[in-house]
Order: sequence, then structure tokens, then C-alpha cells
Amino acid sequence: MNRRLLIELLCPPRCVSCGKLLPPTVGNEPTALCDTCGETWASERIAECPTCFQLLSDCRCVPRLMQRAGISAHVKLVPYGETGGGRVTRNVIYTIKQRGAYRAFHFLARELKPGLLAAVREAKSESAPTTEAVITFLPRTVEAKRTYGYDQAERLARALSRATGLRYMSLLARRRAALSQKTLNQRERLKNIKGAFALRREVAGLRVIVVDDVVTTGAGMAEAAKLLYSAKAADVIAVSVALTKKNKV
Ligand SMILES: [Zn+2]
Ligand SMILES: [Zn+2]
Repeated sequence: MNRRLLIELLCPPRCVSCGKLLPPTVGNEPTALCDTCGETWASERIAECPTCFQLLSDCRCVPRLMQRAGISAHVKLVPYGETGGGRVTRNVIYTIKQRGAYRAFHFLARELKPGLLAAVREAKSESAPTTEAVITFLPRTVEAKRTYGYDQAERLARALSRATGLRYMSLLARRRAALSQKTLNQRERLKNIKGAFALRREVAGLRVIVVDDVVTTGAGMAEAAKLLYSAKAADVIAVSVALTKKNKV
């Protein structure tokens, strides 16, 4: 009996959206959603980008704030927030924020992989083709990490690295305890996030892929990109599972 089967016997896998028991894994790809949630997720993924009218998961449109900071592409899957985003999207985002289920990260990494690899290919053909692309994450606040015991963006970045074969590097650190951005408007977010990150190592010449779970105004991504470019990063690409509808592109 292999290790995964044993683990699944002791702790049967459940749908990361509704909690229903799932059948045991066949092959190498553990499922994350039950059939019903899987169908709903597929329909939630059929969302249109309000700027280029392509599927959100196919387009690379960059929210304005992030564009100004020089981010060259934004890879995302689904809309999110009060006006956008369906049941499964909300449940999966909640699961990765609060419970850190391995299956959820593995699933999202698989879903993001084609878009990310395409964005890296496009970036390489446009500029220096030999530039190495590395995956990093936008760290959550020190308080949030303490509360939940992990960083969901870090777990997603690591899962994406395993799924794509691109190198993972922890490049950004939280410099001080910034407030949570949740209740702030765009101007307040920009002010609150200013100076919030520090670099952990050299990034000169690297194409840096910054991963987060949800992009709202993009203030955090923009601040990180400015820092990376000031340290001579070659290019910054953003990746997130969801994009809130509030966002102007
Ligand atoms: Zn389900
Ligand atoms: Zn678009």
C-alpha cells in the first residue's frame, strides 16, 4: 500500500469547497472538489475580463496601480468579492486562508500553471530570453501569520513551483506590522503598505513571479514590484487566484 492511500484511509479526503467525502485518489493527481463543486467551479471560471473581453484566466491585463509599478502581466483565474465570484471560489479562498489544506493549494497550482507558463514564455520572447524566472510570494501580515500559523501565499507559491518546475525563492519579508488592508480604501491601502516589505536577497537580473491569493486594489503587488525593480529585477509578473471586481484595469 502506498503512503498516500494509507493517509487517505486514516484521514479520508474531503471536497475543499463543501466538505463532502471524496473517493480515494487514483493515479498521481489528488482531487480537490466533488463532482458538483467541480462543475460549479468550471462555470465560475467562465468569467470575462472587463477590459479585453477574453476569459479572465486567459488574459494578462494588469490592474492600473500594478501597471504603474511596471508589472508586465497578471495571471489570474476567477473574479471575487461582493459583486463577483461564486460559491466554490469563495469556499476555496476561505479554505486556503483559514485551514491551509494541501489539496486546495495543489489544485489551484494546477489550475494556474498553463496561464503562468504562457505568461513566462511571452515575457521571454519579448525581452531577454535567458532571464531566469523565479517564483516568490507576497507575505501576509505578521499578525495574520501568527493567527493562522502559515502564509497562504507562500504555500501557493511553493505549490506553483512544484507544478511548473520554476524555482521557488523567498524574496520578500514584512518589514513592520502594517495594518490589515481589508477595511481600507485604495488611498489608505497605498499609504498603509508603503515601506511594508524588505528584500531578503539579491534579485538583480531575475524575472520575478509574485504570488498572492486575492488581488484587490493591487497596492501590495505594486509596492513589492517597486522594491524589486529598485533592486534591478529584470521583470515582475503577478499571479493570483482571484481578482476583485472593484479593480479598475
Ligand atoms: Zn463539493
Ligand atoms: Zn483582460
